[in-house]
Amino acid sequence: MVDADEIARLCYGRFQQLPRRGKPEAGREWTLLAAVVQMSRRGDAVEKEVVAMGTGTKCIGDTSASPDGDVLNDSHAEVIARRGCVRYLIQELRRAVTGGHNSVFREAEERGRWSLRPGVSFVFFTSHTPCGDASIIPVPDGPSGLRPSVSDGGGGLKRKAEQQSTGGKPKAAREAPEDGAGTAPEDAARPRRPRPSHASRCEAPEEPAPRPSEQLEMEHRAPPGGAGPPLQAPDVHRTGAKCVPGGQVDPLQPGVGYHRTGLLRVKPGRGEPTRSLSCSDKLARWGVMGFQGALLSHYLQEALYFSAVVVGACPYSPDVMHRALVSRCSGVSDLPAGFSVRPPALLQSGLEFPFSQSQTERRHRAGQGRVSPCGAAISWCNVAERPLDVTASGYKHGATKKAVGTASARSLLCKLELFHSFLSLVSDTDPSALPKSLSPGAGELRTYWDYKRASGSYQRAWQQLLGHAFPLWPRGDRDLLLFC
Ligand SMILES: [Zn+2]
Repeated sequence: MVDADEIARLCYGRFQQLPRRGKPEAGREWTLLAAVVQMSRRGDAVEKEVVAMGTGTKCIGDTSASPDGDVLNDSHAEVIARRGCVRYLIQELRRAVTGGHNSVFREAEERGRWSLRPGVSFVFFTSHTPCGDASIIPVPDGPSGLRPSVSDGGGGLKRKAEQQSTGGKPKAAREAPEDGAGTAPEDAARPRRPRPSHASRCEAPEEPAPRPSEQLEMEHRAPPGGAGPPLQAPDVHRTGAKCVPGGQVDPLQPGVGYHRTGLLRVKPGRGEPTRSLSCSDKLARWGVMGFQGALLSHYLQEALYFSAVVVGACPYSPDVMHRALVSRCSGVSDLPAGFSVRPPALLQSGLEFPFSQSQTERRHRAGQGRVSPCGAAISWCNVAERPLDVTASGYKHGATKKAVGTASARSLLCKLELFHSFLSLVSDTDPSALPKSLSPGAGELRTYWDYKRASGSYQRAWQQLLGHAFPLWPRGDRDLLLFC
């Protein structure tokens, strides 16, 4: 059983230990935090260790995408944390294939394949409700009774909703946040109050939001799995993520019916469209495809799934999280061996991230300048070499324009670097111990795309997920994957 507060405490503590570089300036800048916690059962005890951590709120626009795989398109904390975890898994696999000690994998029956050691699992932590569908949350205390009254925070939200609705200005016309963070109204007057964690019923309406302007609208709430007729609810949090092209759109009506629920959404860039799907969509995808990605799937007997997703104190709805992360994929079937629909347990902690937007606004002092999202993204993972990676706008923090295109400007999490780490794993593997899909008989593999495509089971699972749950998921541009 996962203790949500214990997970949150562990992650916040780990964040505190990181060096200063890339961290928000207290009282002026805020950010979002996500992490992967490895759980290792030893007898009756469970050892918990943060193995990857990420911060970040930004996403770059389409025009900055690179055909060389050398830029980080999506720097939302969740994505940074997952990619750091992939670095960690590559390290552990390298240890495994070279006969060293590793804490994650053991040999599977099939040649060249590896499984998780018994008792090992992974929990995903995020300090905030993921952007996109999970963020379209009815505001509590409404006639629909969607939110239980657990703390006084609901009152804060309602006050905010009332203030806004009596302001009479439809927010539909206001601009989306450039950062694409989860939504969240805040109530600076709300006293900080510790709260027991709740596996399914919790609220803590503080936390990072894109902008105070990105807040409340009347909502309709669809049944899980798709858009539907509005139910009564007094108000709704909004997300800056826009519906993917080619499908249904948000009605954008002031009041009831601003958003449509259950849809795939892309993150906003800085005034530009992006190709990056919202974190709600990515988390839903990981619940079927696993979080290891196509490349590591070559080596794994089974995809790796998060056993739980823990969210820090912030506006949160268990029903909406379930809709966004679980229900949308529940109809996926006929998956190849090694893949299954494996939704995580959903939990919320009562502990708030000290650098959340609402905490930052509370600590803000006159003369500090406008409260804004921190521009840097920090990645830390439990690897022996270069565990820290701080970036801004998709490149190494502090990299000059002249350095762009060189190794010194690249994040260790960009596609190209992760691909090169993977290739080192392949070259460290004794040819006789290579998985079948990578053995010489598998044909010539050269580019990043070649290696991804050759991950046959993964690609078949992806087709099933697309067909059954996400037909509108934008297809990546092949030309951006041909680097090597
Ligand atoms: Zn996000």
